[in-house]
Amino acid sequence: MERCSLIAPAKINLYLEIIGDRPDGFHELAMVMQSVDLVDRIDIHFISTDTIRVRCSHPGVPSDRTNLAYRAARLMAERFPDSFANLGGVEIHIDKQIPIAAGLAGGSANAAAVLVGLNLLWKLGLTQPELQELAAELGSDIPFCISGGTALATGRGEKISPLPNMEGLHVVLGKFRNLAVSTPWAYKTFREQFSHQYISDKAEQAERHREVHAGPMVSAIYKHDGQKIGKLLYNDLEKVVLPEFPEVAKLREAMADGEVLGTMMSGSGPTVFALAESEENACQLRDAVRAKIPDEELDLWVTKFFPTGISTVDN
Ligand code: ATP
Repeated sequence: MERCSLIAPAKINLYLEIIGDRPDGFHELAMVMQSVDLVDRIDIHFISTDTIRVRCSHPGVPSDRTNLAYRAARLMAERFPDSFANLGGVEIHIDKQIPIAAGLAGGSANAAAVLVGLNLLWKLGLTQPELQELAAELGSDIPFCISGGTALATGRGEKISPLPNMEGLHVVLGKFRNLAVSTPWAYKTFREQFSHQYISDKAEQAERHREVHAGPMVSAIYKHDGQKIGKLLYNDLEKVVLPEFPEVAKLREAMADGEVLGTMMSGSGPTVFALAESEENACQLRDAVRAKIPDEELDLWVTKFFPTGISTVDN
């Protein structure tokens, strides 16, 4: 195999609760993650020099060593130096559809695709849990991006428990092109304002995880109850992002006003999503929001829940 093409889906957070602090400086989280059918395509092929090259169709994405796809390839080259030495370098091309710095884990999805792709190209035979272990070294959202679908993510987001697939729900995504929210800023601000509520004791944190696992959102997913899921959408980071970015609050309000099951900000934002029972309802909402906010900087997508994480495509 000389080349490999992969699909890397974006994610939304149906539930994001910040439980407390961790000794490593990260936050202890309980999240319900959901892949959506808004995807980047990643093409990887061998090149004759022993370098790693990244090219991206989006001018705002760096092509240097800071690109998460580059960092994923570098990690694989360090862990499997014989494969890298014997097979040579790789060029990674990213066809970007997922908006950047949007709370949709676009960079993480790209990194996940590179781990899966190099595992295939270098015939390493790593299992999904082994790949997810490597992924956790690069970023908290990357293990989920590998397996995708619907899952509960705990720890700093890297511990994944799969949940039943929730196919059939439609999603409207809205994001102002000129707006980006820094994930570190959102968590830092949350800590400044809400750390007095944090659960710090490890046993108590574990108890809270058990409660979320046995709680209403996970139960609604098992029952495939879209109405309930819509009502139970939750994201702690809205408490700091919405007051700071009134445009996002306004968009959220506009997206809650229609035949939708529920509306929420994804991750650290600024993307807002609404869940709809049918594609028709989703399209109606998109058109209504477009009419209410006639801002050229506002991008809107109609998409749907996606059942998997990284998958390969035939060339
Ligand atoms: P998350 O939901 O995981 O916080 P995000 O959607 O908020 O992710 P990304 O799109 O992953 O944010 O990117 C955040 C920053 O990372 C961008 O501003 C960009 O400069 C940088 N970056 C590095 N590699 C990539 C990549 N492959 N794709 C997109 N952005 C990348």
